[in-house]
Parts: sequence; C-alpha cells; structure tokens
Amino acid sequence: MKISRYYMPTFREAPAEAELISHQLMLRAGMIKKVAAGIYNWLPLGLRSLRKVENIVREEMNRAGAHEVFLPVVQPAELWKESGRWDAYGKELLRIKDRHEHAGCLGPTHEEVIVDLVRGQLRSWRQLPVNLYQIQEKFRDEIRPRFGVMRSREFGMKDAYSFDADEAGAAKSYSQMYVAYARIFARCGLEFRPVEAATGQIGGKFSHEFMVLAEAGEDTLAVCPKCGYAANLEKAEAKVTQQPETDAEPPLQKINTPGQKTVEEVCAFLKVAPQKLVKTLIFESDQGPVAAMVRGDRELNPSKLQSLIGAAWLEMATPERISEVTQGPLGFSGPVGLKIPVYLDQEVALLKNFVTGANEKDFHYLNTNLARDFKAAQIADLRVAVPGDLCHRCGAEFKFQKGIEVGQVFKLGLKYSQPMNAAFLDQGGKEQFFVMGCYGIGTSRTVAAAIEQHHDPNGIIWPITVAPFQVYLAPINYKEERTKQAADRLESELEALGLEVLLDDRDDSPGVKFKDADLTGIPLRIVVGEKTLAKESVEFKLRSAPDKTLVPVGEAAAKAKTLVEEQLNQIARQAEAAEQSALKEIS
Ligand code: ATP
Ligand code: MG
Repeated sequence: MKISRYYMPTFREAPAEAELISHQLMLRAGMIKKVAAGIYNWLPLGLRSLRKVENIVREEMNRAGAHEVFLPVVQPAELWKESGRWDAYGKELLRIKDRHEHAGCLGPTHEEVIVDLVRGQLRSWRQLPVNLYQIQEKFRDEIRPRFGVMRSREFGMKDAYSFDADEAGAAKSYSQMYVAYARIFARCGLEFRPVEAATGQIGGKFSHEFMVLAEAGEDTLAVCPKCGYAANLEKAEAKVTQQPETDAEPPLQKINTPGQKTVEEVCAFLKVAPQKLVKTLIFESDQGPVAAMVRGDRELNPSKLQSLIGAAWLEMATPERISEVTQGPLGFSGPVGLKIPVYLDQEVALLKNFVTGANEKDFHYLNTNLARDFKAAQIADLRVAVPGDLCHRCGAEFKFQKGIEVGQVFKLGLKYSQPMNAAFLDQGGKEQFFVMGCYGIGTSRTVAAAIEQHHDPNGIIWPITVAPFQVYLAPINYKEERTKQAADRLESELEALGLEVLLDDRDDSPGVKFKDADLTGIPLRIVVGEKTLAKESVEFKLRSAPDKTLVPVGEAAAKAKTLVEEQLNQIARQAEAAEQSALKEIS
C-alpha cells in the first residue's frame, strides 16, 4: 500500500479534549475521527486494527464451537416489554419511534432478540447446547461518553449467547467462553486479568470481567497476592476483622443534634467514633424504595446492594423521596420505625448501641440496637473494600490495580428464557426453560486498550497481531531512481511473502516519515536510501526496540518475514499459556 494513495491524515498535536493517551494517539494517527459526542468514524488505518481484533475474536469463537449470526440494530419494544427491561433499562436505552408510531430501541445488547430467535425453533434437548454470536454495532446513550472509542455511545461488540439444557451444561458453556476469552486477549497481545464481577443491567447470577491492566482504567480491581482471588471493587469482599460487641443494651435515647447532618458533624457533636455512627441511605429501585446501613467510616457499595436485592436498577433517592419515605429530611434517616426494607452491612450487625438518624429534623438516636429497635431484611457485605483490607478467603492484604474492562461473561440462568417463555422438551418430554449464558467483548474498546498498554512518547507500539500493517517501508528519497526501484522491489517481495506493507512514497523529509512510522506503531520499519544502498543494504528497526541493523538487500524480505513470524510465535505461546491458566482458574 502506498501512503500517497492512502487516506491516513496524521497530526503532530492531539485536540485538547483528548485526555487519554490512546484517544490522542488514535486521533493523531488518523485511525478515528469524531462525528458527534461518543460517535466516531473509523478511517482505513484504524479499521485495519479493528478488523484484526474482530478476526481473532471470530476465530476463537468458532474454535469454541459458537456459530456466527447477524442480528438487527433496531429492536421492537414488544420484546423488551416481555423481558421486563423496557421499563427497567434506564436512559442508556435509546428509544425510537417509526413512522407508524411503533416503539423500538437501538440495541445496547441482544438478549431479547436472540431469545426470540431460538424460541419455537430450538425445541429438543438433542439440539443443545447451542452458542450463537455476532460482531456488531451497539448503541448505549452513555451519560458521559469519553476517552474516544473507549467509552463511546456507538461501539463495536462481539456478543454471544449460550443455550443449555441444565445448570451443568451452562457451567460448561461458561467455562468454554472463559477460556476462549483468555486466548482472545492474549492473542491481541494484552496483559489482562479475569476478575469476579457484579452483573449490572444484564443481570444473572455470576460473572467475570476481563480487565486489561492499565493506569488509565476506569475500574479498580482488588487482587489477593496470596490466593489469587481477584474482583472488581464493585464486588470485592473484604474479611470482617471486627469482633462482635457484647455490651448491655441501655434504652434507646432520642437526642437533639441541631444542624448536625454529616458523619463528621454528628460524631464531633456527640463525641462518638465514626464506627459507632451508622449511616442509613435511602435508595430508589425497580423493587421500590429500600434502606441500606453502613458504618460511618465506610462507603456503601450500591452495586452490592443492587445484586443483593436483585434489582434491575438502583439509584440514590432524591431529598423529596427521602422525606416521603422516612418522614424526615435528608441527613437524619435512620432504621427505627422505617416502613421500607432495611439492608444491613455485616459490620453493622456486630455493633451494639450505635447512633442513627431519628427520621426527624435535628434528631438522632443513641443506643440503637438491631433486633430490639429495628429489623433487618437481610445482613450482607455491602461496603466498598479499601486499601488495607484483607482478602475474605485467605486473609492476605489486597493489592489494588486499575483495569479497562474489555469483556464480560455472565451466567444468566433463566433470567430471559423464563419471562420470554423460551423452552425445549427434555429427555422425558417435559418442557424446560433454556439455561442461558451471555458473553460480550468490546471490540472497539479493545483496540484502544491495546494502545493504552503499548505506547511510548513517540506513539503506538502495536502487538504484531493487531497492527494495521506489519512493515513500514520508508525510502529516504523516493524520487531518486535507484531508491525507488529498490523500494518497489522490496515491497513486492514482502507482499509475495504475505506481509502487510505500508510504503511511504511521499515527497517528505526522513524526519516526517520516521515520526509517522513511530506514531502509527507499525512493528518493523525498513529504511531504503542512497546511503544504505551504497552498502547493498537496507536498515531494519523494530518499533519496540532502539537498535538499527543493516540487512543485505537480497535477504531483506526473508529476514522481515522471520522477524514478523518470531513476534507472531511469541504471541501464540502467550495464548497457549493463557489458555492453560484459564483452564486451571475455571475448573
Ligand atoms: P462498562 O461497565 O464499561 O460501562 P458494561 O459492563 O456496561 O461496560 P457490558 O454490557 O458488559 O458492558 O458489554 C460488554 C463489553 O462491551 C464491555 O466489556 C466493554 O468492553 C464494551 N463496552 C460496553 N460499553 C461500552 C462503551 N460505552 N464504549 C465502548 N465499549 C463498551
Ligand atoms: Mg460489563
């Protein structure tokens, strides 16, 4: 490919709004261009990398026995009403109406459509298991699209859905996808880690996220260096180190706390430690309003509360709702006399005689006690884990890391098959609902994540498997006849060996060409010029290393092929190793 005929606008500077290095480099290298908030064009260079990620995903999904389908972007509201998500999904679901006033949406995910596809057609246990996947655009009306294609509104996703006859089968499908994911991300040249995860909008019982380790990641992972437990902070559970208190229970006492609302204020005013002041937080959800209690020195983790109560959505109640529900203003909520379910963090259950709000302006209770003064709907781990916390499995101290979520696998169970009435006949001729799993990979986010992990101050350093081209061929003065001939011949030889070559035939200075070679991150740079040709040679330089070497012209193509193959083999070995550790983790 000759650059002069290629559409690859590169820039020295990135637009000021691009905060993340991957976003800056994708814009500067002419991989993407913004159309509107969270909506991007993919240019030829960017698309080549995206297609490579997609092909790796496709090969591994096929290898794992899944079959490719292609489902529509536009989905009818009826299906979403059947699953119950039309009302539950919230504002990320972009709802539309056609000319006949039929309501629908742009697909943020495809559980409804896929269940509708198989129900009635997949009828017998003999046909199971089935796993169907697609690679397609999704639309989510993200509240704050940012970081380029890392968090966009329209983005590429591979989504797969498995249908099994029973739990054991579903567990096997889940494991197969888990292993396939490990191979996929290793083949993309990424350093990643699977972690236990909350299930969010998709729902279901159990889930892992695949995290690319990078400082720019929006997720925090709690990792146990001793036993290997790793979880998203949304889910990570710390060991309870506090001893249960056994003090006597003096009578509940209502006390005037004028104007004292925050934990600090009330603690200072009443001279109690923040551990003994228990916060009562009011949430609104599709299950109605609920209260949750954590110690004053802890943060409540809304995603733990959401999974505990099995809510499709959950958000902090507004001050108006708090007054309605508790009969008291924001800042004075407490469990005594509350009419809604109260969920208790496990540490609170170990306390005696703590301070709570009295659901009345300027009043708190002293000596509040569980059982005597209020009842808990459930006691569970509801707080956010913090640095210094210990692993609940083995007691070693957690390490915290930042990660980019590139994929997630879910055990769904009957979450969609039951409400949508998708059933098959089992061996005994009895109707059973499919036991499902679903499995997503952000293909466009994966491209950005690869850059986030592989770059230096001069630009991208692509892993060979997702590089848009393998060789950047840079003639110093392409107008000079001998240089042109040598460069053209080498290009043909490289292409004949199956290598992907970008030939910089522009009439630019070597400085400009070298800058673009570094910026675009193509793994091997070959320089041809009068000086190298005087020695019957060309100059090789890997993007990932500083050394330059002269290679005889006649050996250049074969040598390039060997270097590319070495890099491909190294990644293949990493994929093999990733598969082995995934098999261990999931067994
Ligand atoms: P996030 O927590 O980052 O919003 P999610 O958990 O909602 O993502 P899933 O429903 O698990 O996303 O979707 C599967 C994959 O799609 C994610 O692992 C991620 O790689 C990708 N993805 C999700 N939302 C976006 C987005 N707004 N832009 C780009 N990729 C996305
Ligand atoms: Mg996810």
